[in-house]
Amino acid sequence: MIDFEIPTPIKRQVQFITMLGEQVMRPVARYYDEHETERPWDYINLIWPTVRDRGGRSFSVDDTRGSVDKDGKPRPRIGYLMLAHTVEALSWGDAGLYLCTPGGALGGAAVDATGTPEQKERFLKRFGEGEPKWAAMAMTEPHAGSDTAAIRTTARLSEDGKEWILNGEKIFVTGGLMAARESPGFVVVWATVDPSAGRAGMKPFVVESGTPGMTVAKLEHKHGIRASDTAAIVLSDCRIPYDNILGSAEVAKGDDAGHKGFKGAMRTFDATRPLVAASALGIARAALEFTASYLKDRGVKVRYGIAPHLQTAMERDLIQMEMQHRAAWLLVLKAVTKMDAGEDNALEASMSKVKAGQVATFVSQKAVELLGPEGYSCKLLVEKWMRDARINDIYEGTGQINRLIVARRLLGYSSRELR
Ligand SMILES: Cc1cc2nc3c(=O)[nH]c(=O)nc-3n(C[C@H](O)[C@H](O)[C@H](O)COP(=O)(O)OP(=O)(O)OC[C@H]3O[C@@H](n4cnc5c(N)ncnc54)[C@H](O)[C@@H]3O)c2cc1C
Repeated sequence: MIDFEIPTPIKRQVQFITMLGEQVMRPVARYYDEHETERPWDYINLIWPTVRDRGGRSFSVDDTRGSVDKDGKPRPRIGYLMLAHTVEALSWGDAGLYLCTPGGALGGAAVDATGTPEQKERFLKRFGEGEPKWAAMAMTEPHAGSDTAAIRTTARLSEDGKEWILNGEKIFVTGGLMAARESPGFVVVWATVDPSAGRAGMKPFVVESGTPGMTVAKLEHKHGIRASDTAAIVLSDCRIPYDNILGSAEVAKGDDAGHKGFKGAMRTFDATRPLVAASALGIARAALEFTASYLKDRGVKVRYGIAPHLQTAMERDLIQMEMQHRAAWLLVLKAVTKMDAGEDNALEASMSKVKAGQVATFVSQKAVELLGPEGYSCKLLVEKWMRDARINDIYEGTGQINRLIVARRLLGYSSRELR
């Protein structure tokens, strides 16, 4: 049976984050949008004790693994379900600030998806200790975005075989500055150990912050999520320990070698795409709730039970926004529930990302439209939510790329047959 009841630990966490969103994030959201290069240390320092006191748990996927219910039966894992609710609620507070929250983020997800148990212990444990830390993931390059197989960053073994030497350029790395320079964090860099092998040669490497040869070359000036940094990172003869390659160094051979080599990246995206979708829907909910309440105060009351031709255009718009939002959220819940159950969720991950990216853009644009000039004005946060929403249809695979993945899965085509 499908259970839509939200587990109590998640409810409590969402209540706490909602309070944080209202009292801490919203009041400074405009400031950090306007002061893009300033790091939001007041927000970071406020949220850090909470993250640390939970052993980094708020943002860990291990939340309830191994726990039992009152009858002693093992509870289903709800780590990703918890994460989706957490990310949604933080993004409801402010999506840019959410991306500055200390924790493993995309880099941590890559370690979780591709690392050995020893590597997970070594690299992920630190997020609940000491000072705030960040991790980022660098896949995109100037000539390789959607076509990830085209990456040119190389990793070659040193002569004594004890180190990897990385060379290349990565762009648009979310949280790259915080992970590479401002904390004892790390960047997971995707590089090829064999350029002739295509996808099969692609491997993830953990490059610790401050490693000589890794530099932040520039920061992007952006349309939305401006509180978060987006960095270009150069790797120049950057030497890292041999053990920092995540998983195996072996390059798979045979017909499905590319598929095998790329599995780690795909598994990372299966975990993170529903979370990007959750972030999109947090922004959409902020816009939807604000618009509904603003219009209600001005006499617009949605009459749900009556025929559409009797409703006003505004009522129909609000119902459309709500309906689309709910449909997208159900897809996210399905994607994370399958992830928690250890089932293949690639189809649902891409579906939820496509739908949520589209819904967040639709809902936030409609909000600006329905509020008229007030919506477009910087007096309210609505125009900012519209800008913040847009990225969710771009990173972690664009809407078009995720539609391709969905089509391949539904129709049974390989990536070579349908591209
Ligand atoms: C703010 C921001 C943060 C980011 N953070 C990260 C990060 O942390 N780590 C990281 O590695 N990357 C990150 N990215 C990069 C992001 O993932 C890429 O921008 C994205 O994958 C698209 O790649 P591209 O920019 O090269 O566009 P292109 O691949 O050049 O695509 C351009 C357009 O063509 C379309 N297109 C491309 N191929 C096809 C096809 N086969 N069929 C149909 N349409 C197609 C795309 O959908 C898009 O609309 C970030 C980007 C931004 C803007």
